[in-house]
Amino acid sequence: MILYNSLTHKREEFYTNEPGKVKVYTCGPTVYHFAHIGNLRSYIMEDVLVRYLSYAGYDVLRVMNITDVGHLSSDADTGEDKMLKGAKREHKTVMEIADFYTKAFFEDADKLNIKRPDVVQPATGCIAEFIDMIDALLEKGYAYQAGGNVYFDTSKLDKYYVFGEHDAEDLEVGVREGVEADENKRNKTDFVLWFTKSKFEDQELKWESPWGYGYPGWHIECSAISLKYCGEYLDIHCGGIDNQFPHHTNEIAQSESYLGHKWCNFWFHVLHLNTASGKMSKSSGKFLTISVLEEQGIDPLAYRFFCLNSHYRKNLIYSDEAVENAAKAYKKLRVRCSALKDEGEVDEEALLSLKKKFAEALDNDLNTSLAVTAVYDVLKAGCSDATKRAAIADLDSVLCLDLLTPYEEKDQQTEQEGGDPEILAKIAERAAAKKAKDYAKADAIRAELAAAGITLIDTPQGTTYRRD
Ligand code: AMP
Ligand code: ZN
Repeated sequence: MILYNSLTHKREEFYTNEPGKVKVYTCGPTVYHFAHIGNLRSYIMEDVLVRYLSYAGYDVLRVMNITDVGHLSSDADTGEDKMLKGAKREHKTVMEIADFYTKAFFEDADKLNIKRPDVVQPATGCIAEFIDMIDALLEKGYAYQAGGNVYFDTSKLDKYYVFGEHDAEDLEVGVREGVEADENKRNKTDFVLWFTKSKFEDQELKWESPWGYGYPGWHIECSAISLKYCGEYLDIHCGGIDNQFPHHTNEIAQSESYLGHKWCNFWFHVLHLNTASGKMSKSSGKFLTISVLEEQGIDPLAYRFFCLNSHYRKNLIYSDEAVENAAKAYKKLRVRCSALKDEGEVDEEALLSLKKKFAEALDNDLNTSLAVTAVYDVLKAGCSDATKRAAIADLDSVLCLDLLTPYEEKDQQTEQEGGDPEILAKIAERAAAKKAKDYAKADAIRAELAAAGITLIDTPQGTTYRRD
C-alpha cells in the first residue's frame, strides 16, 4: 500500500515495525461540545484507513484519547481550558460535560459506522503516567520549571519543526483572543507540560504532583497515552491537519526526547471540511452536527458517502446542495445494491477481479472516491447477481455504507402512531425551536430524550421516535 506521510512529504510504501501488526494512535475529541461534521470527516477517513488495513490482513490496534482536561483556547498555552468553558456555558461540572459529550461523540460515530477504537482513554484517567513522563523529561534536561509551571525546552532539540512547514509566526497566530504571551517561556516555541500557576484560578480539576497542585498540558496526554498502550514504536498517528502544529510537533518533541529514538513512522493528516465562508470550528459556536444534518433529512451515512467521494488530502467544501446531491446519489446506490438477489452461482474469478480494482484504489494513498467507483463497476459488471452481492458485501466491509440494507429499513421501528403524548409534545417543541433557528434548544431537547433512551428520527415526512 502507498500512503502519504506528512512527516516526509512523500507517498511511501507502507511498512510496519512488527510484521503483520499495525499500531495506530488517533487524537480523540475535546469533549466540551458536540463534534461538528468537520471533526467527523477526520474520523470517517481514519476509520476507512483502519478498516482497510484490517481488510488487507493486518492485525490493527487502535488507540484514541479523549481530551477532557488541558486543551486551552489558544494553542500557545493561553486562554481558558476549553472544558471549563463548556462547563460554564452549560452550568455543569467539567466531568458532567465530559461524560455527556463523550457519549454524544460515540453516538454520532455509531450513526456514521465509525468503528470504536480498541482503546479509548480519557486524559483524566492517566495523570500518573503524565507525571512520570514529565519527571523523566526534567531528569533528562528537556524540561524546566518557571513561574510555577513546567515547560518543555525546545532549544534542546536538533530540530523542532519536524513537519517543516511552520515557523515562529504560527505561534503568533496561535496567541488569539487578546491573551498575552507567557513570559515564563525561555523560547517562544516552548510549551507547557504541567500547569500549577496560571491565571485560571477557577480550573476545576487539579491533581497533586511533584511540582504542586495542578493539571497537565494538552500535548503530554497524547504522548503518554500512546506510549502506555502502543509501546515505544508507533506505526501511524492520525489527526486533522490543524493538529500538525503545534500539537503533533510537540508530541514528537516529548516522545522522542523521552524515548531517545524515533517514535512514529507514518503521520496521517486529514484536510479540513470548510464552508464557503471558512473553516468549521467548535469555538466559533456556529457549526453543523450530525443531528442538524438529520434534522434536514440527511441520513448520516449519506454524509459518510459524501466524505468518501473526495480524497482525504484535499479540503472539502460543505454546501447544503452538495450534501443533498450526495444524499440522493447515496440513496440511489443503496437501493440498487440492496435490490440484488442472491441468485446464480458466485463466479469466483469475477469476484476476485472486482475486489482487485477496489484494493488498487485504496492501495493508492486511500483513494476512497475510486473505491466508491469500484462499487458502481460491480453493478455494471456482466456477472450474476450473487457475484455482485458477494462483491458488494466485501467492499462494504471497508466502506461501511450499509449498501445491502434496504433503504427504508432503518427508519421503520418507530412508535409514532399511538405514541406517548409527552414525547410527541417534546417533538413539537423541538420542531418549533428549529423553525425559530434555536438549534441549541432543539439539540437540548434531543439530548434530554436521548438520556431517557429515546432516539429521534428525522425524516422528510417529519420526526418520529424509537425507544432504544
Ligand atoms: P477537537 O475535538 O477540536 O480536538 O478535534 C477533533 C479532531 O477533528 C482533530 O483530529 C482535529 O484535527 C479535527 N478537525 C478539527 N476541525 C476540523 C475540520 N474543519 N475538518 C476536519 N477535521 C477537523
Ligand atoms: Zn493528540
